[in-house]
Amino acid sequence: MDLFEKLGEMAKSVGDKANETIELGKLNAKINDEKLKMNVNFQKIGKYYYDRYKAGERMDGNVQSYCEDLDAASKKIDELKKELDNIKNKTDAAKAARAAEDIPESASESIVCENCGHLNKPGTNFCGNCGTKLK
Ligand SMILES: [Zn+2]
Repeated sequence: MDLFEKLGEMAKSVGDKANETIELGKLNAKINDEKLKMNVNFQKIGKYYYDRYKAGERMDGNVQSYCEDLDAASKKIDELKKELDNIKNKTDAAKAARAAEDIPESASESIVCENCGHLNKPGTNFCGNCGTKLK
C-alpha cells in the first residue's frame, strides 16, 4: 500500500466513524422519542386511575397508596402556595406602609417645594422629589 492509498484508507475510516456517530445519534433520538411517548402514556394511565380514586372509588393495593401520596403532595403544594402568598402580602403591606410614611400627615404641616410643588415632611431640608433646597 503506497502513501496515497494509506491516506485514502484513513480518510475513509474517519468518514465511516462520522457516519456511525450520526447513525448512533439518530437512533438515540428515536429511542428518546419513544421513551417520551411511554412517559406520556404512563401519566395518562395514572391520571385515569387518580380520577377514579377522586370519584370515590376504592383502588386496590399499591394504587390506593399512590393516590393518597398524590393527595398529600397536592395538599402540600396548597400549603406552600399559602406561605408564598403570606410573604407576598407582608412585603406589599410593608411597601404600602413605607409609601404612606412618605406622604405628610396634612398639607398644612408640610413644606411645599417652590420648584416642583411636591409636599415634603416638616423638618426636611431638600425636596424629596427634585432636590431643591427648601425654605
Ligand atoms: Zn421639588
